[in-house]
Amino acid sequence: MSTSKIGFIGLGRMGRPMASNLQRKGFATLSFDINPEPIAALTKLGGVGARSAEEVARGSEIIFTMLPASPEVRSVVLNSVVPNSKPGTLIVDMSTIDPLTTDEVAAAVKAAGLAFVDAPVGRLATHADRGESLFMVGASADNFARVKPMLEAMGTTLHHCGPVGAGIRMKIVNNYLAIAACQLNAETLTLATRFGLDLQRTIDILNGTTATNGHLKTNFPVKVLLGDIEPGFQIDLAHKDLSLALSSASAAKVPLVMGAVARECLQLARSRGFGGKDFSALLDAWCDLAGVVPPRLPAKAA
Ligand code: NAD
Repeated sequence: MSTSKIGFIGLGRMGRPMASNLQRKGFATLSFDINPEPIAALTKLGGVGARSAEEVARGSEIIFTMLPASPEVRSVVLNSVVPNSKPGTLIVDMSTIDPLTTDEVAAAVKAAGLAFVDAPVGRLATHADRGESLFMVGASADNFARVKPMLEAMGTTLHHCGPVGAGIRMKIVNNYLAIAACQLNAETLTLATRFGLDLQRTIDILNGTTATNGHLKTNFPVKVLLGDIEPGFQIDLAHKDLSLALSSASAAKVPLVMGAVARECLQLARSRGFGGKDFSALLDAWCDLAGVVPPRLPAKAA
């Protein structure tokens, strides 16, 4: 059992299981979220709940943040964590945010005599539940070694992508391909359904040819195709991530034509009330638009 406190701020769909895995695997957590419910759940596992992000900062040597987007990370880290942290504290942001915000926050953290690592997360929320996440880490060699035991408690695969900022840039590249492909899945399965093709056979064929993509193989069959569209990963967050890819690419003068179209399809799904649903529910949004009854696989016997 480690004696040093591990701070954790942001206990949502991802942060809660990740902090729980840290606590279960012997790290003493001190956690905070603006929603009190997951803090109570963490304390049942033996963790300590804090009343504010400032309290987490005062009581921890390493602090993880798992927050929705750039504004929350900037505000929590710069206004609450940095002014209340002891010298040498390491702040590890695992959220998916704008790389320029990562650069800005990292510079402010360094100027305050603290250390920073970006370690955004790959794979699905169900992987986080099982402690099987993948991390794309931007860090100095020393700080990578410092954070490695905790990342290993939350995940199975660690990639040290380079210095601070390299992890979040890798994540943006990864999400660009993964999320744009989800819109293609939605259109493809809508078309297959309109054609009256057998759903399971369609999936088997697409997963056995060069059309293969991870979401069609892993997420669609256990989420939307079984009628479960609760997140998982919200369409609102997927829209944010695709927007991050498009704005980063725009700043770098790289055109992303398919991605721009896919982002507007996500926007369309949001405008039709699907923003808080799992990103596989792009299929239901697309069927809705095409006047197709959303296809479903038969539930497997337990
Ligand atoms: P979520 O909305 O479920 O959780 C965010 C949590 O942050 C919520 O519990 C919210 O109450 C809390 N929060 C917001 N503002 C706060 C503040 N000022 N102080 C303290 N807590 C605050 O989102 P999530 O799905 O857990 O995603 C978190 C991050 O991880 C996002 O950047 C997302 O893009 C990324 N991500 C999500 C997944 C996924 O599958 N869900 C996978 C990889 C990466």
